[in-house]
Parts: sequence; C-alpha cells; structure tokens
Amino acid sequence: MAGKAKIDAERCKGCGLCVEVCPNKNIEISQDTNKMGYFFAEPCGNGCTGCALCALVCPEVAIEVYHETTQPTAPD
Ligand code: SF4
Ligand code: SF4
Repeated sequence: MAGKAKIDAERCKGCGLCVEVCPNKNIEISQDTNKMGYFFAEPCGNGCTGCALCALVCPEVAIEVYHETTQPTAPD
C-alpha cells in the first residue's frame, strides 16, 4: 500500500532514527537546519509504503503517516 510520511521539521532533532528504521530508505537528513539549529529529517523518493515504523520510533513525535485514504495512522 502506498503511503506518505509527513515530518514536522520544527519538532525534529535530527537523531536519524527514522532514517535508520525506514525499510525503503524513504527518509534522509536535510542539509538545512530548523529554527532550533537541528538538521531535520525529510521524506525523499516515492518508496513509502505507510508502514509507520518511522512514526513509531520518533522520540519527538514529529512524524505522521498517511495511507492513500489520507487518514492519519497512529502508532500503537
Ligand atoms: S512509513 Fe515506513 S516506508 Fe514510509 S517513510 Fe516511514 S518507515 Fe519509511
Ligand atoms: S526520528 Fe524524529 S527526531 Fe529523529 S530524525 Fe526522525 S523525525 Fe527527527
């Protein structure tokens, strides 16, 4: 199933956990910084399946994952 990860750059602290956990390498760390000075994560490519692993591991709760229905998927 196709999905989409939406990352709130201003909440992100650039820990990289979401980059590591994504099985489809669909997230990368930006070369830009947010207002707090962190290099934030951002979606890249079109390989998101909506598995929500990134949202599950994010300690800052900065990621929301949507499926094709556009309903948010809350991590368990
Ligand atoms: S929902 Fe899954 S496939 Fe999509 S960006 Fe997050 S970890 Fe990667
Ligand atoms: S897991 Fe969360 S805080 Fe860490 S890089 Fe990804 S979006 Fe940013």
